[in-house]
Amino acid sequence: MCGIIGVENSDNASVLTLAGLLTLQHRGEESVGITISGEVRMKTFKAMGLVSKFFNSDDMLINKLSGTAAIGHVRYTTSAKSSLTNAQPFQINCIHGNISVAHNGNITNFLKIKKLLLKKGAIFNHTSDTEILLHLIAMSKGDLADVVASSMRKLEGASSFVILKDKTLIGARDDNGFRPLVLGKINNSYIISSESAAIEVIGGTYIRDIKPGEIVVIENGQIKKSFLYKKRKKQNTCVFEQVYFSRPDSIMFGQTIKEARIKMGEYLACQMKDIKADIVMPVPDTGYFAALGFSRTSKILFENGFVRNHYVGRSFIKPAQNLRDLTARLKLRPIKEVVDNKEIILVDDSMVRGTTSKKLINLLRDVGAKKIHFALSCPPIIGPCYYGIDTPNIEHLIAANNSLEEMKKHLNVDSLTFLSLENLVKSCSFGNKNEKVFCTSCFTRKYPTKISINTCKEGL
Ligand code: SF4
Repeated sequence: MCGIIGVENSDNASVLTLAGLLTLQHRGEESVGITISGEVRMKTFKAMGLVSKFFNSDDMLINKLSGTAAIGHVRYTTSAKSSLTNAQPFQINCIHGNISVAHNGNITNFLKIKKLLLKKGAIFNHTSDTEILLHLIAMSKGDLADVVASSMRKLEGASSFVILKDKTLIGARDDNGFRPLVLGKINNSYIISSESAAIEVIGGTYIRDIKPGEIVVIENGQIKKSFLYKKRKKQNTCVFEQVYFSRPDSIMFGQTIKEARIKMGEYLACQMKDIKADIVMPVPDTGYFAALGFSRTSKILFENGFVRNHYVGRSFIKPAQNLRDLTARLKLRPIKEVVDNKEIILVDDSMVRGTTSKKLINLLRDVGAKKIHFALSCPPIIGPCYYGIDTPNIEHLIAANNSLEEMKKHLNVDSLTFLSLENLVKSCSFGNKNEKVFCTSCFTRKYPTKISINTCKEGL
């Protein structure tokens, strides 16, 4: 999963892009990058780590940036290693001039296309799947939008792109629409972003989603053209964006993610109507709105029983392997006064391996929780994701390998409830007449595309 944004026709394009990236930081913390263009020679700056560090680093002083168009990227590795080389955007010089690309998603036929390109003599600088789009563009003459369209038609899997050439900003979304991509406006400038929140935080207005299979070309504050390069019968937007990934203040399918999560909690409360408890408690932060919805429907008191340390991020946890066991405790600490001697409904968004959930439940038991009913605002995850989310192989997914009773025992909870798939889809599809627009493959193992091996092998 990654976050992408592009801004054009603004003297503040680079600053707005970086501010947008800060808003999209939750979509990727491993590396950050920005390409600036328009009135200046195209240039790309990249760094490992958080956007805030990038803002303050010596070679990235904000006032060094100029240009009237920019694209930016925050990366969360799902394929190819996390390194500065693989940090995006990727900038090249080719038959079309200087071009830069930032990508959110996973191209599932990446290795197949890469092998074909290697046979034709292509030279690769990165191990990321994103680079193949640049090769496909560089190998075709003609109008850039048409070239992007013919290149996109060759890709399978998840691909939301922002592409920059001089002052021209292009947004392209795969025909399944796996990852979100939205269009907005600020004064005389257009913005394309992974989420509407990034547009609104920088003072812009969300206009609409870029449609699955659509390409939008923007220049000098005007939409020069927009067209569908491919149309399929069924959209497959990742339902997990609403469960976990997207910001609560972003808009998807006509409602905020916050509203969708509240509904998930309401449906969960209906599913668990026979269970009595003293309090409903969220696992911060993504369990918050589902717990609120649960509390409103069940009339059980909502309590915040965890203190979250916001300074413990992935960048700290990952290298500190020997602190792994401390991770749960460092991130979340239960408040004894809230939990002690209480019967609790604990609401979290999802359970992947079950390791973190087990640690949190142990923490609650340590401070005197009497009974714990664990409620998840999505169904059991039984299959990996091939479309840009870093879920582990099937053998590491707790729900793929254990019955409900076994999971309950393993977690040491008094009851365990997952939101049904039907209720999840109902929660997420407000304002959308066709409810069958979601990818739900990690809950069903029915994938909407052919799956080929998607591992980016170094050196291939
Ligand atoms: S498999 Fe799951 S996480 Fe991946 S795109 Fe589909 S719903 Fe989202």
